[in-house]
Amino acid sequence: MSSSTRFLVVSFDGLRPDLIAPQLTPNLCRLQRLGATLSNHRTVYPSETRSAFPSLVTGTTISRHGMVGNKYVDRSVTPQRYIDTADAVLLRKLDLESGGRLMSAPTLGEILAASGKSLAVLATNSPGTTRFFHHKAEDFGHIRLSGHFREACTPGEVLEEVCAHIGPLPPEPSKIEPDTAGQEWITSAFLEFIWPKYRPDVTILSYGEPDTTSHFHGTGAEATRGIIAHCDRQFGRVLDWWEAEGRAAGVQIIAVSDHGHITGHTRVSVSDSLQEAGFRAGTAPAPDVDVVVVPGQVGALYLANPSDQQIARLVTAITSEPWCGPVFTRAKNETDGIAPGSLGNHLIFADHARAPDVSFTFRADDGPDPFGLVGGTFYDNDRGAELGLHGGLHPRELASVGIVAGSTFKDGGYVSSLPSGICDFAPTILSLMGVSIPASATGRVLNEIISADTSDPLGRRDLTVARPEVFEAGLGNYSQRLQRVSVGKTVYLEGGWATSKNL
Ligand SMILES: [Zn+2]
Repeated sequence: MSSSTRFLVVSFDGLRPDLIAPQLTPNLCRLQRLGATLSNHRTVYPSETRSAFPSLVTGTTISRHGMVGNKYVDRSVTPQRYIDTADAVLLRKLDLESGGRLMSAPTLGEILAASGKSLAVLATNSPGTTRFFHHKAEDFGHIRLSGHFREACTPGEVLEEVCAHIGPLPPEPSKIEPDTAGQEWITSAFLEFIWPKYRPDVTILSYGEPDTTSHFHGTGAEATRGIIAHCDRQFGRVLDWWEAEGRAAGVQIIAVSDHGHITGHTRVSVSDSLQEAGFRAGTAPAPDVDVVVVPGQVGALYLANPSDQQIARLVTAITSEPWCGPVFTRAKNETDGIAPGSLGNHLIFADHARAPDVSFTFRADDGPDPFGLVGGTFYDNDRGAELGLHGGLHPRELASVGIVAGSTFKDGGYVSSLPSGICDFAPTILSLMGVSIPASATGRVLNEIISADTSDPLGRRDLTVARPEVFEAGLGNYSQRLQRVSVGKTVYLEGGWATSKNL
């Protein structure tokens, strides 16, 4: 460790680790050979982009950072309002309105700034996701560039400089068309301009693919494999630079993904089921709506009157449906939720003031999809079947990429099968840079992949793996099971499952 230790985090949105293979991703495989792989690595719940990336940059679960889903109902104002965190301008407004409390844990950019260090972000994700990587960058004069959206970029002069040097921001592609130009633009912006001119202490280079293409074409479709190969080629340019120059300059590389994908097989309508059960369901708070069904693959239900009795009525209604997976409500005791049949939402670290009254995931299974990949699920959106989805507790939604290389890490193709997670990267980066880890972090320093000759000022922490913990609940014919595992004091979600007994 030295003051010249720098980090480059390269993210591939929604990349399943089981798609990393020599033919499709030769450069990620090259990184594995150069460094070390976390082979038992997973994300947080919900396995959604704008919950998981806040966990990457805070080192903590949503119970502490508060970004409870891609979308949520804000009950801190009257009337209550529906928030879609894809909107970067809205996120800035919410942060300023709340006195800087949009996220309830400090982020990597803020922590580094307090130590006189910088975080630069280059991303092709949605404007809101791009902002989440460093949502206060403008307050510190740090760089945050979107490969498509000017409203997510800061400072304006740096954007103009980069555009003058490598060309204008590529237009936002339609969702159906894989985003090739954006990945090239941010890669060139980093290699040809941001690194040579600014040498950030930490950089996050985030490819918004293969997520969007998987959502619109399927997990193993030709278009999805094509954009995975394209992102890997862009990453190959980064790795060429690293071997030529970056490694000697003290740069440590961490390749990540924020979640996996499974495949939708059966479309359902949660709102229709709730209407049939006597609820007035809607997609946003309104006077004639008594339950808000937040759209998306994460089941999030907000009641106008969240009494224990109404929550129990809601859980009874959804657990009688064949599409219902694991269900969580606020805790009644150490295990159970207040509604019979539900587990406490603290068990999945989803207990935050913004949390829905009822969180559920769609029932998922291990059936292979049309591309031969494990993982199928019910879903509720206006797209067809056989497309990629995520947000829930299927092990293939939770499984995510973790590969590292650099002088502080083990090398030569080292593989660790110890459980690890997305919350562990920020503590590891801060520790290796000699910066204190905030008390809010729930992740741990990944000592198992740190090279023996890297001195760790915080001491080697406990790497004891405990036996998996299993939690169960049931109601009528419905039963659910949640499995967790821990390393030292850090707890990871392994999966959640639900079944219905045949009558
Ligand atoms: Zn994502």
